[in-house]
Amino acid sequence: MVRSFLEIARRIERKEAVVMTAQEICDLVEGGERAKLEDVDVVTTATRAVMSGTYALFSFPVAKPHSFVRARNVWLNGVPAYVGPCPNENLGILDLMVFGIARSRRYPGYGGGHLFRDLVEGKEVHVEVEADDCRTLSRDVTLTEMPHARLFGSRHAFKNYAAFVNPGADPVSTIFHVSGFSPRLSGATFSGCGQINPLKSDPLLEAVGIGTRILLNGAEGFVIGAGTRSCPEKPNLSGFADMHHMTPEYMGGFLTSAGPECICSWAVPIPVISKTILDHIARLDREIPLPVMDVITRQPMGEASYGDVWDGADLNVEFYPDRCIGCAGCRVEEVCPLGAVSFDGDKARWDARRCFHCGICVSECAGNAFRCNMGSVRLGSCSIPVVLRQSDRLRAIRLAKDLKNRILDGTFRISDPVERIAP
Ligand code: SF4
Ligand code: SF4
Repeated sequence: MVRSFLEIARRIERKEAVVMTAQEICDLVEGGERAKLEDVDVVTTATRAVMSGTYALFSFPVAKPHSFVRARNVWLNGVPAYVGPCPNENLGILDLMVFGIARSRRYPGYGGGHLFRDLVEGKEVHVEVEADDCRTLSRDVTLTEMPHARLFGSRHAFKNYAAFVNPGADPVSTIFHVSGFSPRLSGATFSGCGQINPLKSDPLLEAVGIGTRILLNGAEGFVIGAGTRSCPEKPNLSGFADMHHMTPEYMGGFLTSAGPECICSWAVPIPVISKTILDHIARLDREIPLPVMDVITRQPMGEASYGDVWDGADLNVEFYPDRCIGCAGCRVEEVCPLGAVSFDGDKARWDARRCFHCGICVSECAGNAFRCNMGSVRLGSCSIPVVLRQSDRLRAIRLAKDLKNRILDGTFRISDPVERIAP
């Protein structure tokens, strides 16, 4: 019934392999077609979400050799960078590490995640250097002028996550809400792509290991190992990929009420090598627990399921421009975490390419110009509507399809892990 990794790789080479997305599998299971699942060789899974544990490593020339000895401080579009690990400044080269959650000192609401997407979009970024002799220098650079630009996830692709509510009497500023959590259980936020998530299909890390080839923000990369705080109950992964090959729509900044956050996307091929994997792939949203946490204490208050927030929910938000009543101050422009809505003094405009389908505009828009059914979570007798999603399942599904097509047309080779990760 199940196959070895080598057997699957050979079937792919001979164009005999059956490759399906996790969503296609779940649709089959929902329709009662369990038997066909036994014939699948590879399942492509994906997630797109706010992932705080993100950093980039850049190396690029900034001045002529011997212009200065050491850099004391460096900023890219005002976002602070850590200089090093290799002290190459005497050669006129900067080696820098930039965190995805770092805040720009120049532009409010701009952080590392925004910077990474701007670079991948081909935009010039402004580099300021403060040398240790107190001189300052600056230049504009693009990604193509950076020989080395890699994005790393130190805590990525977690096996789904949690929902948050605020049971207190006061609003709370937190990374789990974009405009501040309203009090008294008035709304819930959550993260996690549910049944299509990579580690939902392989929670014991039987098929995914060190050296597994993945797509990170659309670029080929590799799993390095377990991510920080990974444990058997809540595994997550670390990995990296070259930013030169990334796709902007899969990444970016996400502005919360506690500062900038970073969006990343993973697509992971899961070779079906064991019965356990097969069983996990077949689990649907409603069978996957979604703990409901108090956002203040971070303690669980109850448990919902991913079925509550994804079954029957709209994956995309829709904008009806005719409904916009042209408020004196557009609340949606103010709270949209992606900057996807702009108000020109008369009507709001929506940039569908930037939209993350988080849904906060649905509850914040005075004219009901945004529509999306986002489900709810239940705590005892209380049904709490979802007001914000920190995962974009629409694009995760698209990324899983992209990976499937690349495997089938031979442009993406699945790789056997060089070593297992302890779950
Ligand atoms: S809040 Fe809604 S109705 Fe008011 S200007 Fe913004 S989009 Fe238009
Ligand atoms: S769903 Fe609404 S608030 Fe969220 S990114 Fe899209 S336009 Fe902005």
